[in-house]
Amino acid sequence: MSEKTKGEELREKLFFTPKNLSELMTPEEKEAAEAFSVDYKNFLDRAKTEREAVTTMVELLEKAGYTPFEAGKKYPAGSKVYLNNRGKALIASTIGTLDIGEGVRIEAAHIDSPRLDMKPNPLVEEQELCFFKTHYYGGIKKYQWTAIPLSIHGVVVKKDGTPVTVTIGEDPGDPVFCVTDLLPHLGKDQMKQPMTQGIKGEQLNVLLGCELYPDEKVSDRVKLNIMSLLYGKYGITERDFQSAELCAVPAFGARDVGLDRGMIGAYGHDDRVCAYAQLMAEIEAKNPAHTTVTVFADKEEVGSDGVTGLHSHFLIDFIEDLAQASGKELRHVLRASACLSADVNAAYDPAFADVNEKHNCAYLGYGPVLTKYTGSGGKSSTNDAPAEFVAFVEGLLEKNGVTWQTGELGKVDQGGGGTVAKYVSHFNVDTVDMGVAVLSMHAPFEVISKADLYMTYKAMEAFYR
Ligand code: MN
Ligand code: MN
Repeated sequence: MSEKTKGEELREKLFFTPKNLSELMTPEEKEAAEAFSVDYKNFLDRAKTEREAVTTMVELLEKAGYTPFEAGKKYPAGSKVYLNNRGKALIASTIGTLDIGEGVRIEAAHIDSPRLDMKPNPLVEEQELCFFKTHYYGGIKKYQWTAIPLSIHGVVVKKDGTPVTVTIGEDPGDPVFCVTDLLPHLGKDQMKQPMTQGIKGEQLNVLLGCELYPDEKVSDRVKLNIMSLLYGKYGITERDFQSAELCAVPAFGARDVGLDRGMIGAYGHDDRVCAYAQLMAEIEAKNPAHTTVTVFADKEEVGSDGVTGLHSHFLIDFIEDLAQASGKELRHVLRASACLSADVNAAYDPAFADVNEKHNCAYLGYGPVLTKYTGSGGKSSTNDAPAEFVAFVEGLLEKNGVTWQTGELGKVDQGGGGTVAKYVSHFNVDTVDMGVAVLSMHAPFEVISKADLYMTYKAMEAFYR
């Protein structure tokens, strides 16, 4: 081995040089990352909505010995509990060996993703074609949602209060649905539109059927035929759509991407990739010092409002229940607590290089992205984590052999964004953002690196150790 020059040594000592994980990880780590990816892909295919994510996660938690949380009960260290918030958000927790007065460790991710929601009165017939009218949910580029196979997921609560779970388009034998687009031959005017206008919100109609109900005496025969099929299968009537939560999501499953299979392409990595990593870290936590509080929130894509979003009190109420059971004040627990806000970040894409500042953006395959502050413009609406806390997290990662990188979402004044961090730090809890870098974020088919997924899981595990 040739000796390092003084300059090389100094460089190594003084510079922060993130490294590509494909070079850094051992063959054993790569094998573990591959196995982790297989389970993650299965999870994604079963969890295309926040409700399905909760159902799937509760199943995994119960298999790992978790029981429903009972407020007022004092749990011994090592106990594993979960709290299901209306089937749309979830908290899982492992009681620590330290007193709750020492604070809790929170990991927060969201389990909702951009999609097409059905309107309250969705079923329409136009020129003997039947459609579901939609109102898109979250930040989508509308043109990306046309001419791809879609499945319909959700829940319809019938007049008598019975909920009916709907999933059509996931089994290979199922029909799928789609939003139609204009043929290029007639697209001359459309193609001159800015991309925000090429497909308009009111054109995002999901094609449902074309066959006439066999009765010449009635009108709306295609709609009647579709409604009678739905009634036959689910016992639902048009009235029930008003309260329903039905949405259209991409019908395809998660797949390996690339000849080297180094990546995973799927709908909904944002933010189920961080959610899955923290779920596994939560399940792995056996006798943590601090009580772990792993929260899976809904509604992040639309601003975290509503009863199942992190702007709601459900997380803090849960911690208050834990505090009270030990005779501690909530505020004292919160100020001693710490939170990783686990959400995805944008990966550098050479095709769109100019939206990034290359010294301060995230790269695919360089590990979880630690983001001190988010926001837009002059850091507006940011959670800017205190230096001491960021340094603490970095130390924790280093000690546990986790490779990370840092990155801002785009260059200054290009745009920006934020996530649930500010809703947790609002309660006087030290909080910093960290998550997986994603290509094509919010597209129907997003791409992540398997190595990043695995290293993010390692980071989540380290935070609970
Ligand atoms: Mn997100
Ligand atoms: Mn998002």
